[in-house]
Amino acid sequence: MRTSVADVAAEKLPWLAAPLRRALETQSAHALLLYGPSGVGQFELAMALAQGWLCESSTVPIGARPCSVCASCRLVHAHSHPDLLILAPEAMRGSLGGAAGEVEEGGEDRSGKKKPSKEIRVDEVRVAVAFTLTTSARGRGKVVVVHPAERMNTVAANAFLKTLEEPPGDVRFLLCSAAPDALLPTIRSRCQALMLRLPVPAEAVAWLAQQGIAEPAILLGASGGQPQEALARAEFGIDASAWCALPRRVAEGDVSALRGWPLPWVVDALQKLCHDAASMAAGAPPRYFPAAAISGSGDLESLLRYGRDLGRFARHVEHPWIADLSVESLVAQGREALQTPRSLRRNRQI
Ligand SMILES: [Zn+2]
Repeated sequence: MRTSVADVAAEKLPWLAAPLRRALETQSAHALLLYGPSGVGQFELAMALAQGWLCESSTVPIGARPCSVCASCRLVHAHSHPDLLILAPEAMRGSLGGAAGEVEEGGEDRSGKKKPSKEIRVDEVRVAVAFTLTTSARGRGKVVVVHPAERMNTVAANAFLKTLEEPPGDVRFLLCSAAPDALLPTIRSRCQALMLRLPVPAEAVAWLAQQGIAEPAILLGASGGQPQEALARAEFGIDASAWCALPRRVAEGDVSALRGWPLPWVVDALQKLCHDAASMAAGAPPRYFPAAAISGSGDLESLLRYGRDLGRFARHVEHPWIADLSVESLVAQGREALQTPRSLRRNRQI
């Protein structure tokens, strides 16, 4: 995640301003579940809310907080507020800042090298529980932000549930999730749910343009309308022309088109390409690529089969044994699916 804790103010993500104001003015639940599509800003809203609740301004009305200048707001910006704790997987902690204290390292990969855990583990939850049991240092209560909440493994989630069921008096919890169905139902049921929607395309395109992104509408389309996902791809170096060239290059079996991309992005891009090629083969408009970029003439059945294969692969995409070799194989399959001419398909049916 590129937006750091220092960038929590909703002015950075303008579509969060209204939900932030509403939540500050109306939410009194001790636990809130902020959910919505990934890239819409659950974590940023949670941080802005936490900062707003902890804000010590005597002049700024509640709905307009955080003030960004009081001592409490400055501590949040400096990642050192004593009453705010971020519970996040070790693998994400560097980019979020201010997370729970040091715990034992994660598992090992095949080479025996230690890897940061992508889960929130029970020892980390225990650090958070201990945090909730101490008195608020600045007298405005305490806040625990859990991001992403679905990354708590089962043991961790059960340990967390006990605190959620019997919360200490002045602690509030903010759970962020892009996959609320993956949470324990008992955790979901103890939270007030607050759904975030994607900004309208015009607002998201304007925001991306402000970030200096060229041809923002194409990258927004590539990200299914999720502006922060679009920004992440742009910052990684995937620009509009690389995205638009992808269908042709995959149809040519050109693996270099995807070289260096994180594997989940490779699979995501191929799934989107497959989706759009199948849509066009069925006479429907594409969703993620401009229509002119989809030049393949693959037949629908081959594309649907490829889509099923990609879906199966996507479920294992974070397994450590999946290597670059998989990308070659996926592109080879893509080439075949995109190039199976419809006339050939008809001949086969005869
Ligand atoms: Zn303040």
